[in-house]
Amino acid sequence: MTQGFNLKRVEAELRDVRRQLVSLLGLREETKVERTADEMDQIQEAESRELAARNLDSLARQLRLVDEALDRIEEGDYGICVECDEEIGLKRLTAVPWAQRCLRCQEASERIEARRSRSALPNAA
Ligand SMILES: [Zn+2]
Repeated sequence: MTQGFNLKRVEAELRDVRRQLVSLLGLREETKVERTADEMDQIQEAESRELAARNLDSLARQLRLVDEALDRIEEGDYGICVECDEEIGLKRLTAVPWAQRCLRCQEASERIEARRSRSALPNAA
């Protein structure tokens, strides 16, 4: 586990985010999304044109990530990349406490996803 990392505080933060997500999902309100992190902001901006349904999708996905992070805290393998088993890194975990992958693996998986969604477009060459 990453040295000097305040796991208790991260857990409290994750539980707090979780509460917010649960209440947002329960309310089905797409206009009052709390900004929890940069990653959330990017999702918000990218989807600002078709908020309603997609917003619920991203909230549900976010909730799953938060739940999984809490599970990993309990199991004692929090902060370890699910792809390469390396430490995710203090800086990244501070910015994105529910991160599952180190930055390198995350970028790789986003590239794959971007390619997949591009090829799903009707006019893709
Ligand atoms: Zn990795």
